[in-house]
Amino acid sequence: MKKSIGMKSSYALTAKSVDYEITKKSAGNFALGHESKSGLFVVEYYGRSDTDLNSEVKNWIDKYKRFKFFYASSPKSAFVKECKNYHAFDKNKIANKSHPQKPENTDYVCPYCK
Ligand SMILES: [Zn+2]
Repeated sequence: MKKSIGMKSSYALTAKSVDYEITKKSAGNFALGHESKSGLFVVEYYGRSDTDLNSEVKNWIDKYKRFKFFYASSPKSAFVKECKNYHAFDKNKIANKSHPQKPENTDYVCPYCK
């Protein structure tokens, strides 16, 4: 099975399941979407948190059905990964329309912008 942006299997997007799965207070990346009839996770939106992935993902409850997540070792690596996704995905299939913002109070630059 093709792995979607290097993340684990998807989970139901409910407060209970977010608390159950995202137990570490950490920077990280997440993808939101739904499951296709054949059981594949279809990404509709992705994002990141620089500080607390759990609470960021909870903002999207009721807007999407399922989520995936990936802890990041630092806000910078979360930002770089989000940029990579932004440049890799087909913009017509994803709700993200604008380039990821760098973390506040940093001068991080997207390494994929030419
Ligand atoms: Zn870029």
